[in-house]
Amino acid sequence: MTKQLLKVVLIGDGGVGKTSLRNQFIHKRFTNAYKATIGADFITKEIELGDGKRVSLQIWDTAGQERFQSLGIAFYRGADACILCYDVTNYLTFEHLAKWRREFLNQAGIGDSNPDFPFVLLGNKIDIDERVVSRRQARGFAREHSILTGAKTEMPCFEASAKDGIHVEDAFIYIAKTVRIPQMELDMVGNGPASTRLDWEADSEARKRSRGCC
Ligand code: GDP
Ligand code: MG
Repeated sequence: MTKQLLKVVLIGDGGVGKTSLRNQFIHKRFTNAYKATIGADFITKEIELGDGKRVSLQIWDTAGQERFQSLGIAFYRGADACILCYDVTNYLTFEHLAKWRREFLNQAGIGDSNPDFPFVLLGNKIDIDERVVSRRQARGFAREHSILTGAKTEMPCFEASAKDGIHVEDAFIYIAKTVRIPQMELDMVGNGPASTRLDWEADSEARKRSRGCC
């Protein structure tokens, strides 16, 4: 049986719903209280992929300091996938994604060295009837950055509601299904951050199955 652990970081402006998305995914729970997470932390959840494979996702959330200061290198280092979160009812949070993406690449020490680093786009709060960021715009961002970096595949985009528990799992399951740590690096666990690649076949399959993918 294959088993692997993937570090997944949630980034994006404060207030877009990162903590709520993680809570909904891990605990199937939503609370309306807006309190900054205390201390950057991670929670690990194991996912069964149905074919005997299990993947543990170690999901990192910020300490609520995203408004004021850099999240720090430890937060980003060794990440295997990154979920870029925005609020579909707040255009500024979408505009800031390019900055978040750059910050991630710099802090994680990836830079331009891996054009295929697995980013996933996640628009939250689709339960609110005041959408200002369209799916088309989200796809435009995904396409633009894929072309810019020369990535082999386009960044997938998902839309969700942490409040109603709609499509929250999709982005996480997509990552669990598509991001693979090469076996060689699994054998060297503990020797620093693992680089990753997307498994292209699983990628298109997972996309087809994932209803939240736009
Ligand atoms: P974070 O700063 O990105 O971690 O955002 P939070 O998870 O703390 O959420 C910020 C605010 O948005 C809180 O008041 C949440 O209750 C609210 N919120 C989060 N997700 C949703 C959602 O899907 N729909 C709605 N309507 N509100 C949400
Ligand atoms: Mg938070």
